[in-house]
Amino acid sequence: MSELEKKSFNVREIREEFPALRQQIYGKNLIYFDNGATSQKPQMVLNAINLFYSKENANIHRGVHYMSQKATTEYEAARQRIQHYIGARKSEEIIFTKGTTDSINLVAFSFGQLLSSGDEILISAMEHHSNIVPWQMLCERQGCILKVAPINQRGELIMEEFERLLSPKTKLVSITHISNTLGTVNPVKEIIQKAHAVGAKVLIDGAQSIQHMHINVKELDCDFYVFSSHKVFGPTGIGVLYGKEDLLDRMPPYQGGGDMISRVTFERTTYNELPFKFEAGTPHIAGGICLGKAFEFLESIDMEAAERHERELANYAEGMLDTFEGLQIIGEAKNKTSVVSFSVKGIHPFDIGTLLDKQGIAVRTGHHCTQPLMDFYGIPGTVRASFAFYNTKEEIDTFVQAVERSLSMLR
Ligand SMILES: *Cc1c(COP(=O)(O)O)cnc(C)c1O
Repeated sequence: MSELEKKSFNVREIREEFPALRQQIYGKNLIYFDNGATSQKPQMVLNAINLFYSKENANIHRGVHYMSQKATTEYEAARQRIQHYIGARKSEEIIFTKGTTDSINLVAFSFGQLLSSGDEILISAMEHHSNIVPWQMLCERQGCILKVAPINQRGELIMEEFERLLSPKTKLVSITHISNTLGTVNPVKEIIQKAHAVGAKVLIDGAQSIQHMHINVKELDCDFYVFSSHKVFGPTGIGVLYGKEDLLDRMPPYQGGGDMISRVTFERTTYNELPFKFEAGTPHIAGGICLGKAFEFLESIDMEAAERHERELANYAEGMLDTFEGLQIIGEAKNKTSVVSFSVKGIHPFDIGTLLDKQGIAVRTGHHCTQPLMDFYGIPGTVRASFAFYNTKEEIDTFVQAVERSLSMLR
């Protein structure tokens, strides 16, 4: 499949593929620890963006001319590459969307049309706003009921409570695979089995998992899996909704327009088959093709080694930060990865983030689109360092020293 052979995991070599990492910010070598918000892009993705708009730009699925057919072939090849990477049965099960948020809204609207008053949607207390608000809107529209499974202080889902909230009334469980704020890895396989046992479908928010671990939707047996291209080394403005074919077949279209139809008359319109039924209008063609490139890049990475490396980074950083007076790590799940969130008594996260920025270090501060989770911990926000496989232990050393320096300046 891949042009690149799978290589043994080597951070130095991987970093060479990412030109953004070679910059200086305020005269300091950039340390990019905001991968939870978006990841940097490898050279082959950058080249593909340039190539597409320089030479291959054409609309797809409708042209008879050479360029249109070439663009169509590449766009559909990207879909197939993603299908194979995540282990979907058919390429029809891969719907291109604008990203995670768009994918969840599609499901909330379209799968939501199949629900009725009193049906329940179950989420968790650690969800991103984009996995909360679309369900609240569905409940408003259709009288469904939103239930929220609680977490413990370590930031782990309380499985007994989750099971207690599951019932034959539960039509959908929608849950994040990995928390963007805490780094908690949820036991999604077990969650899926338990949900299926009561007849509920399951949507996995994979916005934080596909870039960190090997994903196989067939093994997981999830009904939907969603993610954003920009967090998995591809361009912004595109993402994926994986759905099981029989389910997608039963769901009505989300948006109407070109490409999603089979035949239009003013009296009656019939819809196109999957995946086009859910892809109204001219899509983000370059985005789809370049997301395919990002997956080609991922195929060259030993993801198990990458995951081990990222966990080592997080453990290493936490071990040192934990010794700082007044500093509290937020999110101490037994199974966690690649995210270190913390708050410091008496100091606003924003002030720490600003001082780190001046030292060339990019972190995120604030509520990370998880306000209910911040309310649970009773804090306004955290400082979050989130790692990708291209980050290094040396960067962590510099980061920890910079945090120490920042705290002494703010005290
Ligand atoms: C980033 C993120 C989202 C939203 O992704 P968008 O790319 O902004 O649509 C949803 N869930 C989680 C867990 C995220 O990290």
